[in-house]
Amino acid sequence: MRFESGGEPLTTSGTVVTEEGWLGVYFYGRRADEELPRLNEGEEVEVVEAEVIGKETQPPGRYGQGRLIAVMEDLGLGTKATRPNIIQNLYDRGYVHGDPLIPTEKGIAVAQALKDFASEIASHEMTADLERSMDAISEGKISKENVVDESRDVLRRVYENLTESEQEFADIVWNGIRGDETLGKCPESGHKLIIRRNRKSGKRFVGCAGYPECRVTYPLPQKGTIIPMGTQCEACSSPEIKVLGGKRPWVTCINMDCPKKQEQREAKDEGGEPSSRESAQELERSTT
Ligand SMILES: [Zn+2]
Ligand SMILES: [Zn+2]
Repeated sequence: MRFESGGEPLTTSGTVVTEEGWLGVYFYGRRADEELPRLNEGEEVEVVEAEVIGKETQPPGRYGQGRLIAVMEDLGLGTKATRPNIIQNLYDRGYVHGDPLIPTEKGIAVAQALKDFASEIASHEMTADLERSMDAISEGKISKENVVDESRDVLRRVYENLTESEQEFADIVWNGIRGDETLGKCPESGHKLIIRRNRKSGKRFVGCAGYPECRVTYPLPQKGTIIPMGTQCEACSSPEIKVLGGKRPWVTCINMDCPKKQEQREAKDEGGEPSSRESAQELERSTT
């Protein structure tokens, strides 16, 4: 339906199911009707309220592995056989986690450092170019020597640039790695909570950057990769982490006395719901 108010065109729409069809059988697919009042053409309605809503454009959705492979194909990156390996490398080196892929701080830092100091080899155009040259070599259209000489020149240039800015490059990457070790804020002192290792036992735990003045610590699972979620537990507002490397990734807050974990323990005693039960057990087992 179209309206006009103060010279501005306005529209609204609604949906009402008039014939059920397959929805009569599969009623899960049915959405609530949005019925609009019956109006005739040219009819005047009263403006009850007007408000300005401030909205921002939403970022595009993250790429899942399948979509990423399709994009690589479009950009001419890798081959059918190597694309899944290239993506797996990103996981293995701790640059991304999850699917859709979420970059870690380390991953973002490495990409930034390469862009800043080795942009020539970090661009997808360069990689696609090389890929095309190799096809051309195998088809006998250009000589191998040409391609190798050109690539060598590029690499030499990039290498020189990297050697000159070694320290800056390292600083950026170290910052990223430290970012992945920072879980949130200490509830007692407001310092950062950081993943640390016990010097004697080698066991990891969460400690406060305000140590030795502040002695807040939390236990951590000893196995698997720990990814800071940057989120807070609904129940106790401690930082949440994702633990990778078990049967499947699991998300938990770092507080062992969290009321939510208490609930899960009770549910376990009563033989409650298995998924929450497992994660509570898993954390207990893996921190000891
Ligand atoms: Zn503290
Ligand atoms: Zn909690």
